[in-house]
Amino acid sequence: MNATRRPERSSSTAVVAARKILQRLHEVMAARTPAQVKLNQICEIIASELSSEVCSVYLLREGMLELFATRGLKQEAVHVTRLALGEGLVGTIAANVEALNLEEASSHRDFAHRPETGEDLFRSFAGVPIVRRERAIGVLCVQHHDPRGYEEVEVEALQTVAMVLAELISHAGLVDENPGDTRPLETGATIISGLQLVMGMGRGHAVFHQPRIIIEHTVAEDIEVERQRVYSAFTRMREQIDRMAGQAEFGVDGEHKEVLETYKMFAYDEGWSRRINEAIDAGLTAEAAIERVQQRTRMRMRQIDDPLLQDRMHDLEDLSNRLLRIVSGQLGTAAQLGLRQDTILIARNLGPAELLEYDRRRLKGLVLEEGSLTAHVTIVARAMGVPVLGRVKNTRHLINEGDLLLLDVNQNRLYIRPSVPMDEAFESGLAITQKRRAAYAALRDKAPITRDQQRIELMVNAGLRDDVAALDVTGADGIGLFRTEFQFLVSATLPQRERQQRLYRDVLDAAGDRPVIFRTVDIGGDKALPYLRKSDSDQEENPAMGWRALRLALERDGLLKVQARALMEAAAGRTLHVMFPMISEPWELMEAKMLFQRQHDWLAQHGRKLPRAIRYGAMLEVPALAETLDFVLPELDFLSIGTNDLTQFLFAADRANPKLALRYDWMGVAILRFISRVVKACEGHDVTLGVCGEMGGRTLEAMALLGIGISRLSITPASVGPVKAMIRSLDLAALRAYCGDLVQSGTQNLREPLTQWASAHNVEIN
Ligand code: PEP
Ligand code: MG
Repeated sequence: MNATRRPERSSSTAVVAARKILQRLHEVMAARTPAQVKLNQICEIIASELSSEVCSVYLLREGMLELFATRGLKQEAVHVTRLALGEGLVGTIAANVEALNLEEASSHRDFAHRPETGEDLFRSFAGVPIVRRERAIGVLCVQHHDPRGYEEVEVEALQTVAMVLAELISHAGLVDENPGDTRPLETGATIISGLQLVMGMGRGHAVFHQPRIIIEHTVAEDIEVERQRVYSAFTRMREQIDRMAGQAEFGVDGEHKEVLETYKMFAYDEGWSRRINEAIDAGLTAEAAIERVQQRTRMRMRQIDDPLLQDRMHDLEDLSNRLLRIVSGQLGTAAQLGLRQDTILIARNLGPAELLEYDRRRLKGLVLEEGSLTAHVTIVARAMGVPVLGRVKNTRHLINEGDLLLLDVNQNRLYIRPSVPMDEAFESGLAITQKRRAAYAALRDKAPITRDQQRIELMVNAGLRDDVAALDVTGADGIGLFRTEFQFLVSATLPQRERQQRLYRDVLDAAGDRPVIFRTVDIGGDKALPYLRKSDSDQEENPAMGWRALRLALERDGLLKVQARALMEAAAGRTLHVMFPMISEPWELMEAKMLFQRQHDWLAQHGRKLPRAIRYGAMLEVPALAETLDFVLPELDFLSIGTNDLTQFLFAADRANPKLALRYDWMGVAILRFISRVVKACEGHDVTLGVCGEMGGRTLEAMALLGIGISRLSITPASVGPVKAMIRSLDLAALRAYCGDLVQSGTQNLREPLTQWASAHNVEIN
């Protein structure tokens, strides 16, 4: 430590100083005097409490930092001295939103001398940004004649005061402040990219799934009350985190285990709660204290260039926001508050049910910090026609609530606060997409027939009532996968039989004579139902491989019985197609079929109208089933390969884990060899084989599937056009001849050779 310095003031001294200043500020702010008078008084108070010769306030006006009030500098300079952002020490503080504390101000490289202020008399300088919604709206600084070196605790006190000043300044309308504009650290146009999860483009304003709380009151009326509020908020937050950690296995909140571990560590961190309490002791409200501590941490962390630490910082930001939401009682997600305009939603991660709470008409895109291609939230978004960009880093820092965003997943771009040229680039991309879409729409009534006259069955995946419209829009052959659990996910309570029946009937009516394959509920994994919680003793380490889908449905067979009756009654007089998910062993299929048969008999005994016929199908998504096809095929009318789960089980790679999102390629030979063996095993059986995972919705992957013998695809509606165009440009016999050899040729990944083959044969791949 510098021996010439005064002994460091203890943090309690700083707290006392800050509290004294705040008490006096409180009186100033309560008085009915003009804002300018108040600012002058505030400068007096701070200067005297911190024994400083100068205290000045600069505020942002018309893009410049204007000296608004001072004690100690020349009064003639007030409203005359103006500095640009980044100019001089004051401008630097505002631009970096960071404090400066200098014994010798003039030795700093950004020092700019302003003679009209008379500041050349003062050698030491400490200044802090006045921050509102993460943006510097001004600067508060103190200066001293001697090279004094302000103590850290004094700068702390200044920062606390600056927080209160922000409130006063904003209420008095003294600065340029666009209501709702949270402009800030980042003001310029920015482009970022991520992982393309759902293709498409969207224009909208940024809305955070968990809105940032705006703090309106910063000075505490009663410190004890504020302490108590923070105490209860911590207790509630810890309970929430513990509960989430417990439920993470069931995927309720879509949070990752690792994140939850970090959350837990912070939630119980004594240092964090102590610092918040100290800020309250200094006179801040609970909300302001939480924010104050967060600001301080943010600034400290910004100086450390370690990506791991920055990730942790991110977790702490999340948690701090959660604590703020609890303490302020503003608990709703953006979905509960309702979307008011076209929106690009931003979240760390979402569960499928959370996404479904949003108004589809206004939701134009989704940006996730995590996310993976086959996570159910991605599938739901795809079904909703909402483009999704995943694994986008640093959203809180780069994007402000309300910012205009242009999301172009096709080009892997997110334009933040776009400039005119960016907007133009986006619009021309949009025009191309629309043109392409129009070309695909023109294919609507054309059959998916290859150039060598092979008819491919092209169906769509669906799950929501509105999805049925996709049949007519795309001209698909039917619904190859109707995920019945989506209705369960959007309901607050378990849908009763009548409600299920109504949906199934509506879907069948809309489909007319096109088949609809209803898959029985596949809940569990990342599709958890809040009203169907497991008991604590049932918590699972690996829910995707756990008690889900048919496993759960056979055990809680009440659920499946109700669904069986609802399906049969809805399909009265028609053919019912039922498909069972996650079959691992033949007996599961037998038991499920038997259950359906018993419900059929019961309905018959009670004189109810019945389906004309029932066709049974199974999903092949657990690899073990492939080894018992000789047992199960005679029991089936159709078999559908679910590549989403199949990939995760084949590669032992959690489909919802963003870290593995890019690790396994559907064009790897392992999955294609596996599927071609299944194709062979089905030969000679009267069973229709198809693929209904996301893989089939990508043109090159779909071509590979056709190449190894698949001729039914059930895909997301948006992919029907591109896949149909691919099919219609394809010579299937030539492709199959090529693929047969390729799969056995020792090539580990077929992406490259098949891309080349497609290009050489003019197959439309996009
Ligand atoms: C699959 O696993 O491939 C599938 C289609 O089902 P889901 O994505 O609903 O698990
Ligand atoms: Mg599946």
